[in-house]
Amino acid sequence: MRSEFKNEAFVNFKEEQSNVEYDAALKKAEAELGKEYPLIIGGERIMTDRKVASLNPANKKQTIGIVSQADTDLAEKAIQTAAATFETWKRTDPGERARYLFRAAAILRRRKHEFSALMTFEAGKTRIEADVETAEAIDFLEFYGREMQRLSQPQPLTVSEEEENELYYIPLGVGVVIPPWNFPLAIMAGMTSAALVTGNTVVLKPASTTPVIAAKFMALLEEVGLPPGVVNFLPGPGGQVGDYLVDHPLTRFISFTGSRDVGLRINERAAKTHPGQKWIKRVVAEMGGKDAIVVDKEADLDLAADTITLSAFGFSGQKCSACSRVIVHEDVYDIVLEKVVERASQLVMSNPADVSANLGPVIDEKAYAKILEYIEIGKQEGRLVLGGGTGDSNGFFIEPTIFADVDSRARISQEEIFGPVVAFTKAKSFDEALDFANNTDYGLTGAVISRNGANLEKARREFFVGNLYFNRKCTGALVGTHPFGGFNMSGTDSKAGGRDYLLLFTQAKLVSDRF
Ligand code: NAP
Repeated sequence: MRSEFKNEAFVNFKEEQSNVEYDAALKKAEAELGKEYPLIIGGERIMTDRKVASLNPANKKQTIGIVSQADTDLAEKAIQTAAATFETWKRTDPGERARYLFRAAAILRRRKHEFSALMTFEAGKTRIEADVETAEAIDFLEFYGREMQRLSQPQPLTVSEEEENELYYIPLGVGVVIPPWNFPLAIMAGMTSAALVTGNTVVLKPASTTPVIAAKFMALLEEVGLPPGVVNFLPGPGGQVGDYLVDHPLTRFISFTGSRDVGLRINERAAKTHPGQKWIKRVVAEMGGKDAIVVDKEADLDLAADTITLSAFGFSGQKCSACSRVIVHEDVYDIVLEKVVERASQLVMSNPADVSANLGPVIDEKAYAKILEYIEIGKQEGRLVLGGGTGDSNGFFIEPTIFADVDSRARISQEEIFGPVVAFTKAKSFDEALDFANNTDYGLTGAVISRNGANLEKARREFFVGNLYFNRKCTGALVGTHPFGGFNMSGTDSKAGGRDYLLLFTQAKLVSDRF
């Protein structure tokens, strides 16, 4: 057995040496940009005629990689390969499966900056955000490896005198793994490793804006000797190959993280049984958020302002857990607003490769246009008190933007913007603040900043979100420490990084043996 799980430590970028090392990694990563990346099916590398360039969101002229795109024929090949490989992989000792994860974690730990630097280029992550993400990817590998070891031990059952009873967690079959671009390493690696360590085979369709970091993870899996066909790497347009993979009768489960619209579409399509299909497909879908921080009148207001600034503008608000609504008791509303505006106006928006950058660009043209559209809507729905503008036009830069005096039912309070835009709403009482916070279709994360114990207890009972935090930010869930997943339209509450997660990729078989 491995030692007890511990979260990977973050690099301290206050130390100069860390920055020197990161700069060297950026240089090395930059020298490798622009390469071509194939599909990998059953170990076979396949270049296609149709290719898509992944671009640096901070510098649109810089190509990160040129990635071959699957069509439905190749999607079919990937599913068939995964189905054939399942026949051997499902019989592999769980200890062996876990060791592939531990080996991958060890290499990732040794070459941390190399992966993080690529994320700085491909996803626009500052060095701190990229490092935290690589640490999370290591955590997922270490945690799920140990979880598989635990699940493969004899499971507790009521003892019978006459029989020997055993319960085994066996795999499901072929899984289609569809991750988002915003945690292009951690979430992608977590979803993939959970599916494979439990004995399933995988067709991995990476997000189209961040396929190169996924290709690098695929190379890592090959490096640790994972047998060909266990994970099949299938970049391609979500709308086309996604539907094909979801609909396929050999697909046993779909593990999806992304937007509400796509998640609901997958859920609906997966519910339809196709000829030759022998099972009800399982869907694990983690989706969007409209996460609120509530500030009570009895609260540390500096802590509130620090917390809101970090949660709203970290990675330019492009986290499902990001704070996009702030609901403040009227007695302290003006002070909190002023303190957040002051802090947010000091954030440095620049190329995320820069040491000084606090926030970088948003991911692509589509996101840029959508966020700017919401800023226009916000001007009708509230009072613009900070930002609203754009930055260096070589990239997709949008200033930290704050709207005050927004109605809790306004569009910018209800719809996921997924950018550096936050709406402030005034509440007459703590109860009204909680009502406003719950007044959304989502239910992912939330936070309360308060010194009032009774109010915190009320929030503990009534604030309806999957991850609730008191007197801290609403982002930054740690594997094993804060299992992550949301209620309502935020998804199936799968609790990634928690002890229930691997069960979603298994089925339990009970064998009762009477001698
Ligand atoms: P997205 O547009 O829904 O895309 C997610 C993935 O789905 C991508 O790989 C995409 O491929 C694929 N896809 C698109 N259409 C598809 C279809 N018809 N069938 C199957 N797959 C399809 O989401 P995103 O913009 O990448 O990610 C941002 C969203 O993810 C936000 O809503 C955020 O809140 C959410 N998110 C949630 C969590 C959580 O844990 N709850 C974590 C992170 C992010 P293409 O890239 O090729 O279109």
